[in-house]
Amino acid sequence: MRVARFAGDDDPRFGVIGDDDGVATIAVLRGDPLYAGFELTGQKVPLDDVRLLAPVIPRSKVVCVGLNYARHAAELGGDVPEEPLIFLKPNTSVIGPGEPIFYPEQSSDVHYEGELAVVIGRICRDISAEDAAKVIFGYTVANDVTARDLQTKDGQWARAKGFDTFCPLGPWIETNLDPSNLEVNTTLNDEPKQDSRTSDMVFSPADVIEYVSSFMTLLPGDVILTGTPEGVGPMSVGDTVSVTVEGIGTLTNKVVSRD
Ligand code: ZN
Repeated sequence: MRVARFAGDDDPRFGVIGDDDGVATIAVLRGDPLYAGFELTGQKVPLDDVRLLAPVIPRSKVVCVGLNYARHAAELGGDVPEEPLIFLKPNTSVIGPGEPIFYPEQSSDVHYEGELAVVIGRICRDISAEDAAKVIFGYTVANDVTARDLQTKDGQWARAKGFDTFCPLGPWIETNLDPSNLEVNTTLNDEPKQDSRTSDMVFSPADVIEYVSSFMTLLPGDVILTGTPEGVGPMSVGDTVSVTVEGIGTLTNKVVSRD
């Protein structure tokens, strides 16, 4: 099931992506699939008639894994950590598909990082990797936008990773997916930049959930970004960046100047 959050004429609502005789539709839901119960309303709208929003706005946190692909660690001049390297992005950095990434004045080296993202569905603590599937609501696509110059300058990453608009998520949440061997690719203005597979991850999504939940309670709607493969690079104002994860879809955003 593909769960989308969208805006039409009304307030944001949730729906399930479907297909009616070759026309992509959204079956509208009543309620909130992440934070409450939900049911089908019986209403369907064409996908083309709505604007997709970030499929989840975390009430609490976006947890990220750094250097989780060996060739990406090497391109940044480091080794793969022995334990998952964890950092946070604020929930205010989240935007949806098609929304602009604002290029901050404080940086002159803003990079894309295409990633598989996990959406947590249940409150949990101390979950083993074997039980991790029980707390996963689904998977979406993320771009862990990073001000690389500030990441180096600041020493810790809150500013470099935390600007408003630096966490595009979407286009929807796929609830039925095996994350172990999916293609992850990123294009910049249709030019291929990243192309790898989740099988190259050092720590699997289940390993990461075990590790993170050993010290931090995970809540419904929390999102875990599982790290980016090699091929990261700079974006400029005017660029269009697209991240595709096999089995989910493509997340596209444009980089714009704030003024
Ligand atoms: Zn990242």
